[in-house]
Amino acid sequence: MPSPPESCLFCRLVAEGDHVHAADGFVAIRDINPIAETHILVLPERHIDTFRDIDAFPDQEAGGMLRFVADTAKAAGLADYRVLVNVGEGGGQTVFHLHWHVLGGRFDTGKLARALEVETG
Ligand code: AMP
Ligand code: ZN
Repeated sequence: MPSPPESCLFCRLVAEGDHVHAADGFVAIRDINPIAETHILVLPERHIDTFRDIDAFPDQEAGGMLRFVADTAKAAGLADYRVLVNVGEGGGQTVFHLHWHVLGGRFDTGKLARALEVETG
């Protein structure tokens, strides 16, 4: 079951965050702890806990979300970039409202390693 919005950080940011891009049921915000020069999070307005629950979105909404991810990257001036979704605790997910990381430019390798929980060196 989806969490009630009042208990969800990203539902709050959907309602009252500083949006860098917004359209048709989706918003984009800057990540508070960027691991790359450009690090944007795409959030659907409608709460689902995780990408694993994507079946809760009708096909049109799921497709619209992909288009919005690409539009957000374009609006941020990115041509080449990475898109990442962490799924579940074991997949590194820490906030349980579906979100897409849009990552462009140079990475902070230390933060990246910590985010991916891998050893370096
Ligand atoms: P994940 O680990 O995939 O669940 O990603 C959660 C992301 O949310 C992390 O990259 C955090 O830095 C980011 N984050 C946490 N709190 C905030 C916030 N208040 N505003 C923007 N980004 C946040
Ligand atoms: Zn939420």
